[in-house]
Amino acid sequence: MLGRRTFPLLDQLAEDGVEFTRTRTDFLAVAQDPRAAEAYLGSLDPLRQAGFDLPATVLGGDELREVEPALSGRVRAGVLLRDHVQTEPDSLVAGLTAHLRAEGVRVDEGVAVTGVSARGGEVEAVTTTAGERRVGALVIATGAKAGALATRLGRRLPVVGGRGYSFDVPAERLPHASTLLLDAHVACAPMGGRLRVSGGMDFRRGPARPVPERIDAITRGAAPMVVGVDWTDRRHAWAGDRPLAPDGLPVVDRVPGYANAYLATGYSMLGLTLSGPAAEALATFLVDGCAPRSWSPSVPTASAPGDTLPKRTDHVGGTGDRATGRRGGAPGAHASATPLTGTRDAMRAHRHPE
Ligand SMILES: Cc1cc2nc3c(=O)[nH]c(=O)nc-3n(C[C@H](O)[C@H](O)[C@H](O)COP(=O)(O)OP(=O)(O)OC[C@H]3O[C@@H](n4cnc5c(N)ncnc54)[C@H](O)[C@@H]3O)c2cc1C
Repeated sequence: MLGRRTFPLLDQLAEDGVEFTRTRTDFLAVAQDPRAAEAYLGSLDPLRQAGFDLPATVLGGDELREVEPALSGRVRAGVLLRDHVQTEPDSLVAGLTAHLRAEGVRVDEGVAVTGVSARGGEVEAVTTTAGERRVGALVIATGAKAGALATRLGRRLPVVGGRGYSFDVPAERLPHASTLLLDAHVACAPMGGRLRVSGGMDFRRGPARPVPERIDAITRGAAPMVVGVDWTDRRHAWAGDRPLAPDGLPVVDRVPGYANAYLATGYSMLGLTLSGPAAEALATFLVDGCAPRSWSPSVPTASAPGDTLPKRTDHVGGTGDRATGRRGGAPGAHASATPLTGTRDAMRAHRHPE
């Protein structure tokens, strides 16, 4: 399961000198209706089976307010997870970029890839807004827009953008915990001295921009559940597209029919959580040409434009032959490998960090 590596990798980044904010905080998932909290706890069962330390029961409203006094009297039940880490995304991206540059890696910002040239199943170059670049390998990690570049390789990747919104507000006494409000599907987390509030899921096309009605709806959902917040002073409104595959699972694998083209997308609501472990696994694949055996889901690309999407099963092992490490599986070939029973459930189980 990819998520097992999240915390160790964050530790490793810090040890390697990457500078970013990282705080161990409580995570609360709270609700007005105790049944919603029970259902949430039940949904975490696969994580329990995977060895994560999870509570046995839900807590009542008063117990939760002892942990987090900022919760209002409307909160009647919830789940407390102690094993939780919060990072500020901007600081992580900036820290990684600075670290890579210091290591001699060239990082181009503000440059878009517009085309891909390949011959005989090998990507040779990409066309960018800053000219052509020869490449040894191509990793398509362009989030909800990954499908556009996959199309350049003749593959249909059904990843779409699930748009969400965030903003921040001041609070008299800033909550210390990251809190998921289950009724409203809204997340609140202390960040930069204010409370960052995020939620919403719609499928608008076009550039991601904050929509006042959506920000208002998130506010209406969150306001009754948290006390001491000035909801009139909303700042830093933001919109972003979560890359969503049809089954909600990440798409991390080699592109069918190409020896040196890879996909890393479909992280849905867990981009910060899963992109590190996915990158680690992908790096192994790039260097060794063999997908790690512990790796979870495969790529659901169709082998040609218009082809139907292969159904992901618990035994699908990917586009290369993982058992032998053979590079460059035939277009659309899906070899069986490590049984992944449980992995998919476990990944689905904990998809609400926002
Ligand atoms: C409101 C909200 C709250 C969230 N909260 C959390 C959270 O608490 N925890 C969590 O784990 N996840 C959270 N997520 C999800 C997380 O943001 C995504 O899963 C993550 O950003 C996906 O990462 P990505 O790198 O695949 O895509 P992106 O972050 O979208 O990055 C893709 C990058 O590719 C670039 N790009 C696109 N096309 C091209 C091109 N042709 N050429 C070159 N570059 C290109 C884009 O400019 C962008 O920089 C949240 C999402 C939203 C919307």
